[in-house]
Amino acid sequence: MKLLKLTSLLLLLVTGCVEDSAPPNIVFIFTDDHTARALSAYGSVINKTPHLDRIANEGMRFTQCLVTNSICAPSRAVILTGKHSHINGQLTNGNRFDGAQQTFPKLLQAAGYQTSLIGKWHLQSDPTGFDHWQVLIGQGPYYNPRFLIPGDTIQIDGYTTDIITDLALEWLETHRDPLKPFMLMYQHKAPHREWHPSPRHFELYADETIPEPPNLFDDYSHRASPAAEQGMTIARHMNVDDLKLTPPWSMNDEQKIQWEAVYGPRNIEFREANLEGDDLTRWKYQRYAKEYLRTVAGVDDNVGRLLDFLEQHALAENTVVIYSSDQGWYLGEHGWYDKRWMYEESLVTPLLVRWPNQIQAGSVNHAMVSNLDFAATFLDLAGAEIPNDIQGRSLKPLFLGETPDDWRTSHYYQYYEYPGYHCVERHYGVRTDRYKLIYFYNRDEWELFDLEKDPLEMTSIYDDASYGETVTNLKAELAHLREFYAVPEDQRPTGPCIPNERGAPIPQP
Ligand code: CA
Repeated sequence: MKLLKLTSLLLLLVTGCVEDSAPPNIVFIFTDDHTARALSAYGSVINKTPHLDRIANEGMRFTQCLVTNSICAPSRAVILTGKHSHINGQLTNGNRFDGAQQTFPKLLQAAGYQTSLIGKWHLQSDPTGFDHWQVLIGQGPYYNPRFLIPGDTIQIDGYTTDIITDLALEWLETHRDPLKPFMLMYQHKAPHREWHPSPRHFELYADETIPEPPNLFDDYSHRASPAAEQGMTIARHMNVDDLKLTPPWSMNDEQKIQWEAVYGPRNIEFREANLEGDDLTRWKYQRYAKEYLRTVAGVDDNVGRLLDFLEQHALAENTVVIYSSDQGWYLGEHGWYDKRWMYEESLVTPLLVRWPNQIQAGSVNHAMVSNLDFAATFLDLAGAEIPNDIQGRSLKPLFLGETPDDWRTSHYYQYYEYPGYHCVERHYGVRTDRYKLIYFYNRDEWELFDLEKDPLEMTSIYDDASYGETVTNLKAELAHLREFYAVPEDQRPTGPCIPNERGAPIPQP
């Protein structure tokens, strides 16, 4: 079998199929909940991500990649379909993805690509449109994961971020057909809650203090009512598992002993300190941020392994490597963890793209792009036709340094999951280069932010008369976008949402 594949590869080289004109392979590296603030390519002051930075240094970094619905499963459905949530049907994490609909992996298969999906899927229904798939069940654990494969499950001992990489490299090396271009979706669980690091990172940042965001102690006083009524504060809503006062639930006995040796003494020290008020919140922030960053370090190591593999197997030249996350994330901004809001930290997601000989190394693109554009981009890269019903646009011209004159200057956003985890009220809105108008439609409350003057979005100026014309213009733009994307009124029933406060006082284990 190996000999046959080697022969095929030689044949491929001799016949000259590996030329610039050959459709490129695509490796889509995807994480869950990775904020650009925790990526040194985006100027992080709190951590270093040397391997992810390689993609930016050798390719292009997008500064304004905006998601359409900042939550896990809906974002994945938008990427697969190139359509907004109200069209693809995945409004919330509670929906089951309709895998019978048109998706880009199916269209890539029709265009002659092999498609492979390894890691986190999180869409309830089985993957469709993939020649090969091995996916975590639901959210998946950080340790000793079980994978769903066609018709069966397999369990593998170890750290999930490492194992997903092992499986991806195994597929690249031994299972793919070298005669065909491929699309590999290599998708991590990390750095999703509950942020359990690899043992090799238990001591990372141990003696450092992570800088706090300036609005860690936000009191939500100058905004509409929803910001104050959510359930995602570090101060009041984290639990003992989030704060690592108990061992990660998915560890085996041996792993728990290793964990206890490091975290046991730290937790005794914490309990003896009897912290209260802001001091307790500061401690929680440090523990949370360090655990989060440790899981990012695990991703970064493994991205390095993948990039090295591509180079060592002569695949780097004709492979487009894309890095992104399903949305951004609050690493303490507004006092929060989690995502969901249209505010900048969870609206913006990282996007890095490397394509040797095509993308200028070290370039930065400020155009307003979106996860809505990924499907069209993948099809365009493959030389496949982009169906008319896809709502996103190909980023390929932007990769080549040619942003079309008619590129979008406003972005439509809508979040639906209320009542739900963290009690973030439903909202839609429009974001332009400078302004953001948000409508909490079940409360009939508006917010307007001037991102130039108030980049942290601390004060809504919706009622400020000097912005009257801006509000009028933005409302017109919002109406236009809702019509353009065929957005129906959200008439699903709503109801009260009571945040579960379990962070203070911290219960004894
Ligand atoms: Ca997510």
